[in-house]
Amino acid sequence: MGQVLHYQDEQESKQAVAEEISLRVGILDKCEMHDITYFVVTDDFEDAYKLGNSLITKNDSLVSIFKNNRKELSEFIKNVTDNLDDCCSFCEKIRDRD
Ligand SMILES: [Zn+2]
Repeated sequence: MGQVLHYQDEQESKQAVAEEISLRVGILDKCEMHDITYFVVTDDFEDAYKLGNSLITKNDSLVSIFKNNRKELSEFIKNVTDNLDDCCSFCEKIRDRD
């Protein structure tokens, strides 16, 4: 049981790192009003992969959870938009009311 929880925590932490990298290169954006992360429609993940790789090369603490596993980091970046909407769902509801 504890093992499973630990695994989930680690997955979530890795997901958060992938989101942070994607925010930095502009694949993701954050709604300033609702603090919700959503994705910007793009197929260009190259910048995110490059940034991820260079952070690992620099031993940046942001990516330390990946323990130099560039491939795994790239996998997380690739899947980073999976559970996200392409806009802030709260803003969309407000727009729909008009
Ligand atoms: Zn919003």
